[in-house]
Amino acid sequence: MKEIMPINGVFDMPALPYDAESLKVISASTLSFHHGKHLRAYIDNMNKQLVGSGLEGLPLSDVVRRAEGGLYNNAGQVLNHIMYFEQFGNANHNPQGEMLKLIERDFGTVDAFRKEFEQRGATLFGSGWVWLSQQADGHLVITQEANAGNPLRSGLHPLLTFDVWEHAYYLDYQNRRADYLAALWQIVDWQIVASRLA
Ligand code: MN
Repeated sequence: MKEIMPINGVFDMPALPYDAESLKVISASTLSFHHGKHLRAYIDNMNKQLVGSGLEGLPLSDVVRRAEGGLYNNAGQVLNHIMYFEQFGNANHNPQGEMLKLIERDFGTVDAFRKEFEQRGATLFGSGWVWLSQQADGHLVITQEANAGNPLRSGLHPLLTFDVWEHAYYLDYQNRRADYLAALWQIVDWQIVASRLA
């Protein structure tokens, strides 16, 4: 994915790349809290904690790779949420081309991949993220990350992520995390996911 750079030491809040009413399986109300309040707070906290950290001026991915403690928690959450919100839309809901080939090579079928991804998201204990990433050898892998975890920390190249913190789904799905995960396939834009391939 494109490097996200600070301007005069400050990271900006990205706008949602679609109308908040348009996703349906995530409500405008959830988006207003999740994007407008939660992401805003992570960005503000990260910008404050960057001052004097020695990591000022680096791209966000390098801050996530190198930060520790509170700065890592906030920077991880900023990158994770930017990738999460950016990957949705109202087109390209089936993987095509190279992306499809890689999924079929490493998981057999798109359905088998979706089932495994949903299962890893549903069984992640507590707050965190389920990820599809590329290993250095190009193979695809699904991982669970607790809290603000990002696969960059393990040398992986992240492609797709579903947020399983309760704030991502509780207004729309209450305790039904599995229903939320299954519904998200209706809004994943695979062209955006494929644009992140290494
Ligand atoms: Mn979240």
